[in-house]
Amino acid sequence: MNAISDDNPLQIHPASVPDYMQVQQMRELQLNRLRSTVRRAYLHVELYRQRMDRQNVLPEDIRSLDDVTCLPFTVKADLRDSYPFGLFASPLQDIVRLHASSGTTGKPIVVAYTQHDLTVWTDAMVRTMAACGLGCGDIIQNAYGYGLFTGGLGAHYGAEALGATVVPISGGNTDRQIMVMKDFGVTAICCTPTYFLHLLDRATEMGVDVRELPLRVGVFGAEPWSDSLRRHIETGGGIKAYDIYGLSEITGPGVGSECRCQSGLHIFEDHFYPEIIDPESGQPVPEGEEGELVVTTLSKHAMPMLRYRTRDISAFISGPCACGRTLRRIKRICRRSDDMFIIRGVNVFPSQVESALLAVEGTLPHYQIILTREGGLDQMEVHVEVTPAVFSDKVGALENLQNKLAQSLYQTLGLRVEIRLIAPQMLKRSEGKAQRLIDRRNLGQ
Ligand SMILES: [Zn+2]
Repeated sequence: MNAISDDNPLQIHPASVPDYMQVQQMRELQLNRLRSTVRRAYLHVELYRQRMDRQNVLPEDIRSLDDVTCLPFTVKADLRDSYPFGLFASPLQDIVRLHASSGTTGKPIVVAYTQHDLTVWTDAMVRTMAACGLGCGDIIQNAYGYGLFTGGLGAHYGAEALGATVVPISGGNTDRQIMVMKDFGVTAICCTPTYFLHLLDRATEMGVDVRELPLRVGVFGAEPWSDSLRRHIETGGGIKAYDIYGLSEITGPGVGSECRCQSGLHIFEDHFYPEIIDPESGQPVPEGEEGELVVTTLSKHAMPMLRYRTRDISAFISGPCACGRTLRRIKRICRRSDDMFIIRGVNVFPSQVESALLAVEGTLPHYQIILTREGGLDQMEVHVEVTPAVFSDKVGALENLQNKLAQSLYQTLGLRVEIRLIAPQMLKRSEGKAQRLIDRRNLGQ
């Protein structure tokens, strides 16, 4: 048991044992699984076979983990183009579940699972919840949407297999969420961080102080969120807020998770092989440098993914984690390469705006960025809610705050930005992923 140094080794869930595997043993396991995944993809999926043939790579050319870089990338458009079943590597009679995620345009993407894939996914979610400090005896309110979205069922089966008590409430109906949280003595909640913010606001209006409830953990994912937002959530909710990572194309939630150290996300490497590449050149970046996260599935049967480009920007964190897990860690994802917008020649990510706003006292983490074009010039306006105390204050205080925010944004982005202060609760709330950016530049406005 010397490899295990978590608080109490006897309390480690059996599913979490691979989290503490010796690194050499893990690399061997990964290589074996990578080789069989590539073989499976080549034999059963035309798109992979054609691309590998074009690059002159055969499955037997994968002799080491580094050889993964010989394989072709897969991108979201490949899933859209092969809609609905074109990337399946298993016959339909072996597929026991389908999920789909809505694309911003046209057809959704479809993902498939065999019974084996569901077991792997559930195990990964058990490990996720265990890493967030949950276990038997916890009451978990699952407010991720149930249905074609992978969040709901992914968290559901993971929490059940963990031995916790699951409340499958799904998203929406905020008043009922708060009633259930209070009456059932819920100890943990799974949802998007922005939905939890909304829940906190509504609870306050209903006269419920969430900090006084047994709720102690939030398992938050499905959208990028900053550390400033985390501090706001942890203080406002009296909880520990953990970041989890996943995407439907790879399995759903359960690709990686923070542990009690909250210092990066451990990737469940026995099932998912991570790389960080330069999004322009496609080449791996030096260890520790930022780039695009690319993931290859190592255990998936129904729909193996070779070098899937996630568009999420992250970096490897080197060195061991104090929790004792030997799994590699990546930095929290605060931005996606396709989130970025360019205004007057400057690259801007919504998360930078979020951090600049929350750095100034008196603002709330509800904001929207609106881009317009006037006389050929790009304009950026930020609408941000302010605290009730500031809003009811004299005009001078509001003006002062407006100036401070403009300055904070100027320091962060190097851009002059129009600020509009909004009364609390005026911006539209989301029950899932928040819409932070409204780009009206191509609408002739
Ligand atoms: Zn750790």
